Amino acid sequence: MQQEVTLFWFRRDLRLEDNVGLYHALQSKFPVIPVFIFDDAILDSLPKNDARVGFIHDSLAKINAQLQENGSSLLIKKGKTQAVWHALIQEFHIKEVYCNKDYEPYAIARDLAIGTTLEANNTPFFSHKDQVIFEEKEITKADGLPYTVYTPYKNKWLEKYKINGGVTEFDATSWYGNFYKSNFDFLTLEQIGFEESSIKVKPHNLSKIANYHETRDFPAIDSTSYLSPHLRFGTVSIRKLVNWAVRKNDVFLSELIWREFFMQILFNFPKVMTQNFKSAYDGIQWLNNEADFKRWCTGTTGYPMVDAGMRQLNQTGYMHNRVRMVVASFLCKHLLIEWQWGEAYFAEKLLDYELSANVGNWQWAAGTGCDAAPYFRVFNPEIQLKKFDEKGIYIHKWIPEFNLGYGKPMVDHAMARDRAIATYKAGILKN
Ligand code: FAD
Repeated sequence: MQQEVTLFWFRRDLRLEDNVGLYHALQSKFPVIPVFIFDDAILDSLPKNDARVGFIHDSLAKINAQLQENGSSLLIKKGKTQAVWHALIQEFHIKEVYCNKDYEPYAIARDLAIGTTLEANNTPFFSHKDQVIFEEKEITKADGLPYTVYTPYKNKWLEKYKINGGVTEFDATSWYGNFYKSNFDFLTLEQIGFEESSIKVKPHNLSKIANYHETRDFPAIDSTSYLSPHLRFGTVSIRKLVNWAVRKNDVFLSELIWREFFMQILFNFPKVMTQNFKSAYDGIQWLNNEADFKRWCTGTTGYPMVDAGMRQLNQTGYMHNRVRMVVASFLCKHLLIEWQWGEAYFAEKLLDYELSANVGNWQWAAGTGCDAAPYFRVFNPEIQLKKFDEKGIYIHKWIPEFNLGYGKPMVDHAMARDRAIATYKAGILKN
């Protein structure tokens, strides 16, 4: 008779340490097969050298090496998720399946469908909270409705964290003996249909966080954590980070709370994925000029801060947060191009692309989101440059040809500012 097993399904939680779903899986009665599925529904939409696929593959290789030290290995599959699960049910005698929750609309629908398939096979499917401290509707207003303003959300979040006495981490090392003994073939990147990218995810760096509150806005100073792709793919644990940040730096902790704020916004208001959070802004007459968009994408607007940011993004898959704010505001306000265009471009290029944070921040910059910048606030890219890169170190790095006569701005700031305010005003009045 075939051996009864438990499956643990890795998704965006690519680590063994402090992994809640894995911790519970390992305590089941059956040996645990860890599995990862490269989902064709997603892979088919990506270029063959997408750096994020390479990063996932590297992270899986690290997990596999750790599993091998314990006489086990990672089972990698590729295909349409539903079809893969049908095949897994045939291949193994699966008694239970564990995973960690994923709150994006695509993932929720996928998990519902897989849950139904497993249920039809009498296999329980357990999903755990892992990627956030507080999920879904855990932080709500007194009336039970979700917060749409950050500061009261953050205060409630901190209050709850303190009442709970921090957050428990899950160490499963003493259960590693319960991994299924195996030596599955580890699929290469080529076997998955991808190739190495020259763009790589940087290791994260927490050593400079002590002065984060003073330095984080200056793109020339290497003073942010580079955690974002690691949080996206779960190669670090949010519980460990938060327990650490609480003792180290309040401003840094606030950023981790912004991440959860936007996650609960997407969960509670999934329309924000494609539509304005504030429907009062639906009547804005965007110019959506293709040629202007191209100049923005290629970093040739004539505004050094915007161009440096877009070039950093195109060359590295990363852009400093202050500069993301400047380029996003420039696209929506100076060029009157709707935020969805910029959001899609970032989604294609960012190594840390996270649906909730991307739409949340884009809508913030466009003024259409919850707790957004007021529509009449139009960043002046020249003033931003003077304030945050006074010596021009950042722009010289990304625009080697930069000199005093650099380019000619594609739009005049004063004209663009007045035009944006008038267009927004007219759009809001119309609705
Ligand atoms: P740090 O400054 O070290 O921050 C630590 C962590 O806090 C980040 O890794 C991130 O998880 C979280 N965080 C920080 N700022 C924000 C924020 N404004 N909103 C939500 N979480 C935050 N972040 C993404 O992770 N994915 C995205 O797709 C994304 N798109 C963005 C689009 C725009 C237009 C803007 C203005 C910001 C966007 N951000 C996004 C937020 C922010 O720019 C990045 O999280 C940050 O630059 C990543 O670098 P870091 O890890 O060194 O950040």
